[in-house]
Amino acid sequence: MRQSYSVHNYQALMHRWKTLLVGCDLYLQEISVLDDFPLFEIRTHCQGKEGLPSLYISAGIHGDEPASSWALLQWVGKNKKLFQKLSAILYPCLNPWGMVNNTRSNQSGQDMNRIWDDADSELTRAILPRLHGLSFDLSLTLHEDYDANGIYLYEPYLGGRNDLVASEILRAGKKFLPIDRRKRIEGRICKQGIIRPRLSNLPEDGIPEAIYLVRNHGRRHFTIETPSEENFVQRVNAQQEMIDCAIKQIIK
Ligand SMILES: [Zn+2]
Repeated sequence: MRQSYSVHNYQALMHRWKTLLVGCDLYLQEISVLDDFPLFEIRTHCQGKEGLPSLYISAGIHGDEPASSWALLQWVGKNKKLFQKLSAILYPCLNPWGMVNNTRSNQSGQDMNRIWDDADSELTRAILPRLHGLSFDLSLTLHEDYDANGIYLYEPYLGGRNDLVASEILRAGKKFLPIDRRKRIEGRICKQGIIRPRLSNLPEDGIPEAIYLVRNHGRRHFTIETPSEENFVQRVNAQQEMIDCAIKQIIK
């Protein structure tokens, strides 16, 4: 992807989506207004059909992590055919005000990744009813981190032995950016770029989207992170590769 636009231009992002989805098996719908910006959802035409693999991806819940939103756009652009046989819900940018203002929180200063236990927040009021009764084979939440020195991911620990999917995802992203070398990230142990938080050990300041998804809509989840101080195009490419790998590993 060439960087010929402002990465914080929400209107440009959504314009690119609208163009991309013409003639595609996905449709875009405005589902709410957040801080005076329209909030969009994208679904496959066959969304909810039984027997099809099912997928949830969201990006841009933190407005200063723009590569997440552009990577999702790039990945869908390269994989349009996949959506003929996939039940999917995508949220291209969950914090448009934050994106435009290049800030983590929303206009009221709220971290929207800590409000998923509050059904009355503006964002959850819009999203939670949309997910009612759905279960996903895989959910991905896309993030960036300005302290990171490379890519890493969270995979909630659900008991038993872990498979190698998390390592494969990082191996795919490594084509563009190295794996974060830190041994601890946000107070949690990180092994070769993988953090496996227990569901009993949650952030004290509120429930993240990932935990809400794992508790209510299917247990297979990855939160993907790229280092937001690195080159933008490399970050988008790394995210794109990691999304692609996660989906190929889980949804075959
Ligand atoms: Zn984030």
